[in-house]
Amino acid sequence: RAKDQGRNTYQFYTEGMQDREVMRLELDKDLSKALANEEFVLYYQPQLNLETGDITSVEALIRWQHPRRGLLSPVEFIPLAEESGRISDIGRWVVMAACRQLARWKKTPCENLRIAVNLSGRELDDEYLVDHIRDALAKENLSPDQLEVELTEEIFIENLEHNRNQLNRLRELGVQLAIDDFGVGYSSLAYLRDFPVDLLKIDRSFITEVTERHDDAVITRAVINLAHNLGIQVIAEGVETDGQLNFLRNHRCNLAQGYLISRPIPAADLEQALEEGILVTGLPEGTGL
Ligand code: C2E
Ligand code: MG
Ligand code: MG
Ligand code: MG
Repeated sequence: RAKDQGRNTYQFYTEGMQDREVMRLELDKDLSKALANEEFVLYYQPQLNLETGDITSVEALIRWQHPRRGLLSPVEFIPLAEESGRISDIGRWVVMAACRQLARWKKTPCENLRIAVNLSGRELDDEYLVDHIRDALAKENLSPDQLEVELTEEIFIENLEHNRNQLNRLRELGVQLAIDDFGVGYSSLAYLRDFPVDLLKIDRSFITEVTERHDDAVITRAVINLAHNLGIQVIAEGVETDGQLNFLRNHRCNLAQGYLISRPIPAADLEQALEEGILVTGLPEGTGL
């Protein structure tokens, strides 16, 4: 790094770059204390089953309640945690917290929900990840199919043998496997043949203009058909309009997730929303369809 090469090199930094670097180092220092200080929290975003109109699952999305900076989004600290390796401990916390939440939801309106957690490629590197997930499920007396793991296509590029092994172990355990941000990665489609996958999440960038752009519509329909012909379920991310929801339902997409249905919200808000039945489902009252 330029900074490490001595004072004179500072001139190559613009003001903005220096600020960013200082902020990064500071955030990384704070990150090292965040777990112990219990500053992380999971928000939950509902996933709507388009056939039944039910909320069948939720995605757990981490937030950092930073003591000075307020609520931070994962895009502000997950990449940093991946670089420093702290992501492993954070990931373990996420899995444990999600399992605790599932246990708390027993005998409430949320009892049949599944939780999907995000794991980055770095987290798959951890030999003990699968053991940790198994232990977390057992500790909370959960059935493994209540938990789903979302991975991005990056895991199909490097460490293929290791990652295949990890996915197989997760699958044997009974955890559901989803491919996040499908369609924007650099991996080949061959992994759909070679790896056990239960669910594809079509990337939000295809959904945003799916009702306006012919090419997005063609791609979205093709992904749905490809997945179904392989026996894989499909969920669309970033659904914000009724038009998008209708398009997806008409083309037999299985699930939808996005601001139209709900933003990611704290567990208590989700419980209340489900209890009061106030989430947008795009189905007229009482139509079980
Ligand atoms: P992701 O897994 O693809 O999550 C979807 C992101 O899109 C979330 O952002 C969500 O709030 C946002 N989103 C959902 N619906 C809509 C919509 O209708 N419109 C728009 N514009 N956005 C929508 P978020 O919560 O900021 O998370 C960003 C990314 O951070 C996630 O992308 C995921 O890759 C990562 N992430 C989140 N939680 C975790 C975690 O616990 N562990 C790891 N390793 N990564 C996480
Ligand atoms: Mg995700
Ligand atoms: Mg995604
Ligand atoms: Mg994403």
